[in-house]
Amino acid sequence: MFEEIEPEDQVAIESLICDLKTIREINCADCGTAMCGHEALMSVTMGFKNAPRCWKCLSDVLEQDRVAVRNRLFTLITRRVCYNEGWLWANREEGFEPEALPDCLWPAESERSISPVVESEVSVPDIYRKSTAEWDAGDMGCGDLVLELRTRMLSLKPGQVMRLVATNPGAEEDLPAWCRMTGNTLITSRHPVYMIRRKTI
Ligand SMILES: [Zn+2]
Ligand SMILES: [Zn+2]
Repeated sequence: MFEEIEPEDQVAIESLICDLKTIREINCADCGTAMCGHEALMSVTMGFKNAPRCWKCLSDVLEQDRVAVRNRLFTLITRRVCYNEGWLWANREEGFEPEALPDCLWPAESERSISPVVESEVSVPDIYRKSTAEWDAGDMGCGDLVLELRTRMLSLKPGQVMRLVATNPGAEEDLPAWCRMTGNTLITSRHPVYMIRRKTI
């Protein structure tokens, strides 16, 4: 679905696949089971590169249903060139055809087709609070941006707002998806400036 890969994307892809190989060598931070390449990639897209979780435990951390997590992250992954290459790598490594839905995430004879998840628009809250944290992430992307963002958001108090500048083109896909999945509020996004409120619980 992507016709050409730019040289700077190639660097990000190689770095991502290197991370995925590393994660496959370690076990889920919560339950201790081994993870496959697809599970490793799902953790990276949500900012859990340093404490990766298996599919089940990642869903628990995100407080969402497993199938919903899988479908949403599959949609995110296949829309982003570097994540998509990571997905194709995992399919190759685990013996699946490039277009196949792998058995590890689509257990046999369950749903074999997938419909992209349609997300509703993020509504802008009435009360606009002053930003209390700022971070210029520069061109960071492809798993590293959300990793660092997750750490920084955890250092805020619930309700506090982060003003983030992220110039990587992938941020336009990654940040709204990350906010939806983690329950943080994306107040405004006018690339490259994003205002994110930390979730209240
Ligand atoms: Zn686990
Ligand atoms: Zn897999």
